[in-house]
Amino acid sequence: MDQPTTSGSTRASLYARHEPVFNRRIDGKFRRIKWAVMALCLIVYWVTPWLRWDRGSYAPDQAVLIDLAHRRFYMFGIEIWPHEFYFVAGLLIMAGIGLFLVTSAVGRAWCGYACPQTVWTDLFQHVDRLIDGDRNARMRLHKAPWGPAKIARRLVKWSIYLVISFATGGAWIFYFADAPTLQHAFWAGTADPVAYATVAVLTATTFVLGGFLREQVCIYMCPWPRIQTTMLDEKSLIVTYKDWRGEPRASVKKAQKAPDLYGDCIDCAQCVAVCPTGIDIREGAQVGCITCALCIDACDRVMKEVGRPRGLIDYATLEDAEAEQVGHAPTRHRKLIWRPRTLVYLGAWAGIGFALLFLLGARVHTDLTVSKDRNPPYILLSDGSVRNAYTLRLRNMQGRPRRMEIALDGLAGAEMWADDSRRAAAGRRIVRTVPADATYPLRIYVVAPQATLGQDFVFHLRALGEPDEMDSAEVRFDTPQEATP
Ligand code: SF4
Ligand code: SF4
Repeated sequence: MDQPTTSGSTRASLYARHEPVFNRRIDGKFRRIKWAVMALCLIVYWVTPWLRWDRGSYAPDQAVLIDLAHRRFYMFGIEIWPHEFYFVAGLLIMAGIGLFLVTSAVGRAWCGYACPQTVWTDLFQHVDRLIDGDRNARMRLHKAPWGPAKIARRLVKWSIYLVISFATGGAWIFYFADAPTLQHAFWAGTADPVAYATVAVLTATTFVLGGFLREQVCIYMCPWPRIQTTMLDEKSLIVTYKDWRGEPRASVKKAQKAPDLYGDCIDCAQCVAVCPTGIDIREGAQVGCITCALCIDACDRVMKEVGRPRGLIDYATLEDAEAEQVGHAPTRHRKLIWRPRTLVYLGAWAGIGFALLFLLGARVHTDLTVSKDRNPPYILLSDGSVRNAYTLRLRNMQGRPRRMEIALDGLAGAEMWADDSRRAAAGRRIVRTVPADATYPLRIYVVAPQATLGQDFVFHLRALGEPDEMDSAEVRFDTPQEATP
């Protein structure tokens, strides 16, 4: 929009007024895929916290749980402890590479089908149709002056938005605590204030982003389309209008009079009418296209009605578009997926996945960390011996109490005792029962004979009766006499 300046000339405004999108309902192959993906995403999101998984009486029975209070992440049979955070980091890296892989193989499929913003916007647009009718009815209602009927419709629609938004925010908190217990506490008003705040924030953001901002999030706010466009190449699948086939466009009537002068596009604008971001794909590839392929469904239907071959708008690569233009057959989509770049992503993704699986299979359920007292580093006892103090953390990562043995390795002549016993009981091994699924802190004193030199030694932790269940930690023993290097 041009605006007058003080000098009387005009300048282009950087602000484009938002034009609401009233996309038409469409049925077709890609719409049905979108229905299936939407249903899958919503079911997974809402149902997952309610799935149960029996881990015995010492651990929660929620199948997927991020237990911040006890610093655990549960996922079905897997329990991740804080010191194993590399598993979560690995999963996040896999998710990132997975996005690269999907983009390289099938373009912006994530944006078009599975992104939460897409899924919730799609859901809200169906609510629009349910309450206000399809495109034309919604446009009429939008232009109509405010009156009782319009206010009533708006209130009903926004109430449904609010219920969906509340269910969205509400479901999120159930991933962080036992869902049935939290639900009961939530409605009783006794849940943690953080739960209410989280639900309030997520309800508000879902309501605003899905109900009102919609395609503006994709076009202006989300950085992913910008990043993604740098990952697309001439072999990436994008939704393409085949202008060499469609242009020059003309209405059916006009084209019937001079069929040789016109292309296949009958300028019906159905592809624009169904587009959830309101763009015209005939203007070429653009950042606003989330590649949901609804325009393909719309145009295929139009082509069928006018008796022309389908695919005037279709998934195609830039390379294909050029080849098709000069009469070559398009490349089979399977070939586009199995190409070196995609295979490199797939290899990296699968490599990390296998590494994580291997680590999961090889992990033991016994863990030891040791921190040494630094101040003072040692104490000279009255008999001339030297004492160092350590805090050990014995982790029993199984759902049953276990007898565990701590043993000294190295440091000749040294003995140890725990602060819950006495020096008279000192020896080179200590046995304790570590409760199920717990960390057992133990303060240990190690005493070595006079004239022992400063040196490293090892604490071994073993689960009794389980030969493979052990862990070790190397630590320093400080004395007044350090060994000469
Ligand atoms: S739906 Fe197909 S025929 Fe109609 S305007 Fe779009 S490209 Fe042209
Ligand atoms: S142009 Fe087509 S593929 Fe792109 S967002 Fe619109 S309907 Fe979806």
